[in-house]
Formats: sequence, C-alpha cells, structure tokens
Amino acid sequence: MKYFWNKKQELLIEAARRFANTRIKPVRAELDEQDKCSVSLIKEMGKLDFCRIFIPEEYGGLNFGVTELCLVQEEFSRVCGGVSCAYSVNALGAHPIVKWGTAEQKKKYLPKIASGEYLTAFALTEAEAGSDASAIKTQAVPEKNGYRLNGTKIFITNGSIADVYVVLATINPKKGIRGITAFILEKGMEGFHFGEKENKMGIRATHTCDLIMDDVFVPSENMLGGKGKGFFIAMDNFDHSRAGVGAQALGIAQGAFDEALNYSTKRVQFGQPIISQQGIKFMIADMATQIEAARSLIYNAAATVDSGEKRVSKCVAMAKYFASDVAVKVTLDAIQIMGGYGYMKDYPVEKMLRDAKITQIYEGTNQIQRIVVAQEVIRELSK
Ligand SMILES: Cc1cc2nc3c(=O)[nH]c(=O)nc-3n(C[C@H](O)[C@H](O)[C@H](O)COP(=O)(O)OP(=O)(O)OC[C@H]3O[C@@H](n4cnc5c(N)ncnc54)[C@H](O)[C@@H]3O)c2cc1C
Repeated sequence: MKYFWNKKQELLIEAARRFANTRIKPVRAELDEQDKCSVSLIKEMGKLDFCRIFIPEEYGGLNFGVTELCLVQEEFSRVCGGVSCAYSVNALGAHPIVKWGTAEQKKKYLPKIASGEYLTAFALTEAEAGSDASAIKTQAVPEKNGYRLNGTKIFITNGSIADVYVVLATINPKKGIRGITAFILEKGMEGFHFGEKENKMGIRATHTCDLIMDDVFVPSENMLGGKGKGFFIAMDNFDHSRAGVGAQALGIAQGAFDEALNYSTKRVQFGQPIISQQGIKFMIADMATQIEAARSLIYNAAATVDSGEKRVSKCVAMAKYFASDVAVKVTLDAIQIMGGYGYMKDYPVEKMLRDAKITQIYEGTNQIQRIVVAQEVIRELSK
C-alpha cells in the first residue's frame, strides 16, 4: 500500500533504512547476546541528525512531527527493536520539555538533545505504581529555592545512560493526581543514583534500571509545567508517544515477515519451495494484511496527533495495541514458517519475537489501551 509521503519524508525513510542496514544490522545480534546498549550508536544517530526530528527548529531541530518519528522508528525496528527503543525514548524524555518547558529550560536542554549530546529518559513507573500511575510515592518536599526528592523509579529505559531525566513526584500525597509534579533531573545531581541493569527477555540493546533519589535537591527552576501538572503531562506525553510504540511494533513485524517470506521462497520440502504450499500462503497473506492494517492505524494516529487535534487518546491507543498484538502474532508465525531454523539464534526472528513482546506492555499495557478505547467510545455515545 502507498502512503504518498512527500519528498522530505521519502529522504528520511531512505536515510533511516540505510542507517539501519549498515550500522544497526551488523551489531544487533551481538548487542542482544551481550545485553548491551550501544551509546556510541545512539550518538552516531545524533550526528546524522536523527535526534533533531522531534525538536523544534528554533532549538536546533527539524520541526518534524510524530509521523516522521514513526517513519524512522519503523525503519530502525525492522532491524532491531532494541536499538530503536533506546533512540525513541529520547523523544519521550524530550517532548515534555518541548511542550511544557520554560524558555530557559528549552534553551538549556533542547539544543543538546537535538545534537545527540544529551540522551534523555522519562521516569514514571514505581514498584507500586505501574498501570495505576496515580499511585506514585516519590516525594518532592519543598524547601528554600527548590525541592528535596526521595523515592525509586523502576524499569526506566535509558536508565543510567541518559543525561537528562523527566521525573514524576508528588508534592502533596493528599492531593492525589493533582499533587503529581514533573521535575527535570540531571545525571550527577547529589543523591541521584542508579540500580543494577535489568536482565530482560527482549530489547536487550536498551539499558533499563532503577532511578534512586536519595535526598536529591532539585532547584525550583527545574520544575516542569507547574505544580500539580505532572499527571496531565505524563498522559499527554503518552498520547504523543504511543503511535511510536506502534511503529516500533510495526517495524519488528515487518522485519520478521521479510525474513520469513524470503526463507519460504528458498526452503525446499517435498520437492518445492514451501511458499508453494497453500498452508504457508495463507499464513503469508494473513501476516501481510495484519501488518498493513497496523500501518494504516499508526500513520492515521500519527497524522491526527500532528494535526493538533485535541482528543487523540482513542486513535493512538488503538494503533498501539493493535500493532503490538500484530507484532507478537507475526513474529510467532515467522518462526513457525521457518520451522526449527526460526527457533535458532542463527536467524533473527526469535529475537524479534522477544523484542515484540514488550510493545504489548510498556507505555501502558494493552489491557489499559483497551480501557482507554472503550472509555472514549462510551464518551462519544453519550455526546
Ligand atoms: C523493558 C521495560 C522498559 C520500561 N521503560 C519505562 C520507562 O522508560 N519509564 C517508565 O516510567 N516506565 C517504564 N516501564 C514500565 C512500564 O510502563 C510498566 O511496566 C507498565 O506500565 C505496566 O506496569 P506494571 O509492570 O507495574 O504492571 P501492572 O500494572 O502491575 O499490571 C499487571 C497486569 O495487570 C493488568 N492490569 C492492571 N490494571 C488493570 C486494569 N485496570 N484492567 C485490566 N488489566 C489490568 C496489566 O495489563 C498487566 O497485564 C518499562 C517496563 C519495561 C518492562
């Protein structure tokens, strides 16, 4: 199916595909095997302007939108869902500053994020606050000229490799979500530590760990978006980023499909390539159709966010959960088509399945996405 991208978008797709094939593909198995996030690879993306995509022009960015971020995300993910995640989390950490930052905060952080000098992370999740983000316990107690932060965030992507962190804490636990406030933390602040790296099933080319805040003093000028605005900022950030998780899932699915299709034309059983078997053809048809359906939802969701439309939660949640369910199904089917070889680490499809699984979990599990969609459907009914 054609999406009629403009010239700039076509060039971007081409550049991302080239980077994926020449720089990511040769190292993806090694990064997965060694459970290693390659900071130098992300820095290289910065040098090639891939981090400028999600930053406004006045701060050194390219003024692109979610659509272009999804295009890059899809291309990187076709090759490695882990490397693409480490890259795109920079947008997740940067967007709240782009949208809610003061002029000083934008001037201080955005040009360095655009150039790739600073990597970012976004920290919401805690041991007792996963799907229920309102339950966070990290506390920010006011004191002269700033706040004292105490608490632990878990499962944070770009964990200790980031330089700048958007962290959610409560300034008044009695106020519930209205007490939640966003702060910008920097690596090196006194009392700001990192936990052990998590040993994950997939996206092993990302670095995931706890952020531990032990009496960290954060100056008032590092509060983001105002007192009590943190929960709203987090939800708005996910509305902005979820199409990107969908694009990550889509890329992984496309990568696995390409591998399986190619294999099915070469693998001969019963005297003919397995693609000539109707059972395999049906699988190929279903996989191709599911991928295209996911792609349509994602690019529609991204365009809707870029249009400035106010209520985007339904379309981004639909795109995220549909695409991630497709990614898990398609990667499993790709292994099936490749038989025993697909199960071996000599081929990339078993890694693609492991990478696909996380897209059903993070940035809101797929159950939570279904709740979001249902709530919006019911709201529309009562209009
Ligand atoms: C590799 C990785 C990277 C991550 N990166 C980040 C990051 O950078 N920043 C960050 O802040 N967080 C991050 N997370 C956290 C992630 O967003 C959470 O894991 C996710 O939101 C789910 O929370 P939980 O793990 O506590 O699961 P829980 O909320 O405990 O959910 C457990 C199960 O119960 C279901 N469930 C919960 N509530 C409901 C309900 N109301 N209705 C139906 N089902 C429900 C869930 O869908 C899930 O199946 C990351 C997680 C992982 C694994």
